[in-house]
Amino acid sequence: MATDTTQQSLSDWDNRHFLHPWEGMEDLGKNSRTFITGGQGIYVTTTDGQRLIDGPGGMWCVQLGYGNAEIAEAIAQQAKELGYFSPFSNTSPVSARLAHELARRAPGDLNHVFFTTGGSTAVDTALRFIHFRNNLLDKPRKKVVITRRKAYHGSTYLSASVSDTERTRVWFDQDHENVCFLPDVNPVRRRAGVSVEAFLNEKVADLENAILTLGADRVAAFIAEPILASGGVIVPPEGYHKRCLEVCRRHDVLYISDEVVTGFGRLGHWFASEPEFDIVPDIIICAKGLTCGYVPMGACIISDRLIADISGDKSKGAVFSGGFTYSGHPVAAAAALKTIEIFERDGILEHVRNVTPLFAERLATLGKLPIVNSTRGKGLVGCVECGDNSLAIDQKVGAQIDRRCQELGLILRPIVNMCVFSPPLIITADEINKMFDILERGIRIA
Ligand code: PLP
Repeated sequence: MATDTTQQSLSDWDNRHFLHPWEGMEDLGKNSRTFITGGQGIYVTTTDGQRLIDGPGGMWCVQLGYGNAEIAEAIAQQAKELGYFSPFSNTSPVSARLAHELARRAPGDLNHVFFTTGGSTAVDTALRFIHFRNNLLDKPRKKVVITRRKAYHGSTYLSASVSDTERTRVWFDQDHENVCFLPDVNPVRRRAGVSVEAFLNEKVADLENAILTLGADRVAAFIAEPILASGGVIVPPEGYHKRCLEVCRRHDVLYISDEVVTGFGRLGHWFASEPEFDIVPDIIICAKGLTCGYVPMGACIISDRLIADISGDKSKGAVFSGGFTYSGHPVAAAAALKTIEIFERDGILEHVRNVTPLFAERLATLGKLPIVNSTRGKGLVGCVECGDNSLAIDQKVGAQIDRRCQELGLILRPIVNMCVFSPPLIITADEINKMFDILERGIRIA
């Protein structure tokens, strides 16, 4: 094994051999990515010893921060006890316990947990489950999934097909035969003179019209993130999800709530659907914060109602032929159980609710800066959108602010002309002030 770990060799290996997610092909092999070597609390450290606040919380996932010894210990303990066993015909105590703990916390009758390796595979599973269910119910035509512009649901073939990132649209083939996209739901983008209430009515009507146009006998499901996260932290008008669910119920269309980002405390609750948006969907997708990002895991949580009419006597002997080698992986389940235990013991959900007003107030004041067009957020997730509406400036401004902020001690997630942040949920009021102080300076000098 190569033992030469000088910075130069690491950079060479990273450039030559590590094909990163969303890799820009033009710069392939020429990148100078910062190496993150460690982390503690809300901070990460770089190879040259710089200590940075991790604004995006990893990738919206490190809810309890870095260096959590209890989670590390739970992972190590489980690996020593039972590092893996096949979930196909046997099970393990930790995964059974985790399924129970998730079902207890999920809204309504969402009691069946299918474990996956992450968010994309959980979305994939939900869509395949719906195909399977409708085939079993003799509704083979009912397969169309309605999604929304700017949605991001993952990087597998199916989850990418219901996503709408420009780069995927332009450079990949997507299966759009059974996918329908609704227009942007960003209230900031509503036409001049249109009230938020009128905009909301229009967006709900978009969904109902799409179902009526396609025919309810063809539409299987509507998939939505409670807040469109990677699409730019788009918070829909109040009442949007509840009214969309009512539309779905009227037309026998299932509602999938993708809570990969918004679940596990990001909005101050276990799940965003309830109580935040006051809905009980048919399926909830979660991942990321479920294990605090320490090991990969996702979950597709399905309601009793959806299972009842295709199981037992009604199953026609069918097998849900979906499953991963690592479904319910014991080590990941141990990390998730410890995460849940710490959330409860340390009152993390209450903490998020307590610091949210300060986060919202500091976010709103950024809106007064000259280059900021809009600020958006909910719970501990925020976005500043900048630029002057000229392509040349807007394309670069997010990366420029991120660079400036990194010099000052804060990492952000730049997305074109936006900077997005979702810090670890353990962030204190003082640390929130520090993060926004840096962000404000970074925007001013960008
Ligand atoms: N769904 C949402 C809302 C996401 O934001 C993401 C990832 O960012 C995914 C699904 C995909 O999750 P993963 O990257 O774990 O596959």
